[in-house]
Amino acid sequence: MSIETKTLYSRASPFLARLKDRKLLSGEGSTKEVYHISLTIKESELDFRPGDAVAVLPENDPLFVDPLLEALHLSGREPVLDPRTKEALLSRDFFLKRAHLGRLSLKFLKAVAPALDDPALSSLCQEDRKEELTAFLDATEPVDLLKRAKKTFTFEEISPHFLPLLPRFFSIASSTKIYSDEIHLLLSVPAYWKKGEKRFGTATHFLCHLAKEESSIPLYIQRAPHFYLPSDPQAPLILIGPGTGVAPFRAFLQERQTASPCGKQWLFFGERSRCADFYYEEEWKREVLKGRLRLDLAFSRDQDKKIYVQDRMCEHGKELWLWLQEGAFLYICGDAQKMAKAVHAALLRIVEKEGGLSAEEAAAYLKRLRCDKRYCLDIY
Ligand SMILES: Cc1cc2nc3c(=O)[nH]c(=O)nc-3n(C[C@H](O)[C@H](O)[C@H](O)COP(=O)(O)OP(=O)(O)OC[C@H]3O[C@@H](n4cnc5c(N)ncnc54)[C@H](O)[C@@H]3O)c2cc1C
Repeated sequence: MSIETKTLYSRASPFLARLKDRKLLSGEGSTKEVYHISLTIKESELDFRPGDAVAVLPENDPLFVDPLLEALHLSGREPVLDPRTKEALLSRDFFLKRAHLGRLSLKFLKAVAPALDDPALSSLCQEDRKEELTAFLDATEPVDLLKRAKKTFTFEEISPHFLPLLPRFFSIASSTKIYSDEIHLLLSVPAYWKKGEKRFGTATHFLCHLAKEESSIPLYIQRAPHFYLPSDPQAPLILIGPGTGVAPFRAFLQERQTASPCGKQWLFFGERSRCADFYYEEEWKREVLKGRLRLDLAFSRDQDKKIYVQDRMCEHGKELWLWLQEGAFLYICGDAQKMAKAVHAALLRIVEKEGGLSAEEAAAYLKRLRCDKRYCLDIY
């Protein structure tokens, strides 16, 4: 697992990929909006391997940029300097590409408060009213304050107080062994309500709704050396990837398609509904038919009792334990809040029961697997 540290592209100097194709994978009746995205990376020297992610530099929705320019009495064509990088750009591009428009910082509030002529707001900044302050910062956007201000701030006065628009990471869902000039992504667009409007996650909205075919997508590679395939293509793999967590495993399986023979592979995939949320169904089934993949599925809302990937793992605990005994490498990708913890708890139960170990011994066994890089996590 040696890692080349070639960093040709970076946040300051991204590669401009092109949006080649976008396909909605979640079907009718799904509670989610999940897309497959293909990016063309022809003539790039992007160097990545299965397990790595791309860092995408998103753009804000122009719908949120225009009112901000208006509140600052700017046309958008003014040449300005990004206060962080000192890069020269147009004022519109600063608000489109560099500033986080959805989140207010305390620094921003403090800078604008004197121009609001609102004692209640000023006291929110000064006194120890953490909870109220947090609620206010969560509910308010920079443009709301600028519209209420009794003065018009200059670009130079206000721009340093915006939070930066940060890159977003997405697991690469393809292997260069199959798609030499492309990077595939699997994106779930988060939606929420704010100020009575439906809003979407910034980067996913940019990639899944705003960007047009052939649009430039600035990106660089975010390496994940803790999540690489074993160097031995014959090593068995246990892949646990519910939701968009399945993305890197598509890259893993594509990479090993060319290895002959390759080790056995077992994928646990889960989502809410089989008919609406079974991403890449045909691809997995093809691999199953070729005898190269074992697939276990958990669609939580297709029956009264919710079933998750960890339940499927426990159902097949004996075999899972045997695979581990045979030297399988186990990978978990996806939700860090609940899924990874529940899967770890299930693994502990399996190791305890099938290995005849005490709780402490089971914990030590999994710890050893982690040290040996046979239990790998990429969770977010
Ligand atoms: C290593 C790694 C790999 C990843 N791989 C993938 C992947 O393959 N596919 C994938 O889809 N994601 C992946 N992610 C997550 C991804 O990076 C983003 O965090 C995610 O897509 C959301 O980004 P966004 O810009 O669209 O949303 P953001 O704008 O960052 O919003 C994020 C969340 O906050 C909520 N939110 C934002 N603002 C508000 C508000 N004012 N009020 C209420 N709620 C709000 C939204 O509902 C949303 O849930 C990965 C993350 C990491 C770290």
